[in-house]
Amino acid sequence: MKILLIGPQGSGKSTQAEFLAQFLNIPKISTGDIFRQIATEDSENGRKVREIQNSGKLVDDETTARIVEERLKQEDAAGGFIMDGYPRNIRQKDLFDPHFEKVFYLKVPDSEVTKRMLARGRADDTQESIKMRLNLYYQQTKPLLDYYKSQGILTEINGMGSAGKIQDEIRKNISK
Ligand code: AMP
Repeated sequence: MKILLIGPQGSGKSTQAEFLAQFLNIPKISTGDIFRQIATEDSENGRKVREIQNSGKLVDDETTARIVEERLKQEDAAGGFIMDGYPRNIRQKDLFDPHFEKVFYLKVPDSEVTKRMLARGRADDTQESIKMRLNLYYQQTKPLLDYYKSQGILTEINGMGSAGKIQDEIRKNISK
């Protein structure tokens, strides 16, 4: 099963992807994790990705699509995977489409996501910058959600509540 989890930062998407990967015994593939790993490398590439991540920008679409395509060629992904963080926009999907069978959108109100991010206390998590990142997220994500909806593979999940309850809700929609 090829599954995509979509949701803004602070929606609990990564946790849900982790739970689901364990449950289905398939890998969780997170572009954020892949780029964080590359950023630790002592190379030109490592330095470049480090700079991009630290500034809060996105890695370019071509590089991202290529990295995902390569990752999915690995043997452990042959039986399916849970994708967390890719595609992030329509352009990425057009460059490389993993052909998901199910897409879950974790819906959490802006006020809650903002509260959770502010609680992390990170220097870049100011009210203003959170608002900007959220706006950017919706701008890029909305067209993707519309696309998956038109494919009939999108399920909206209420992302409020305990992690266990949300996971149950996702699993219910998989066995169907
Ligand atoms: P995340 O853990 O998903 O918040 O991602 C952390 C960082 O990795 C982002 O701020 C980007 O710099 C980079 N990144 C992750 N996924 C993507 C993607 N699909 N396209 C471009 N950059 C990405």
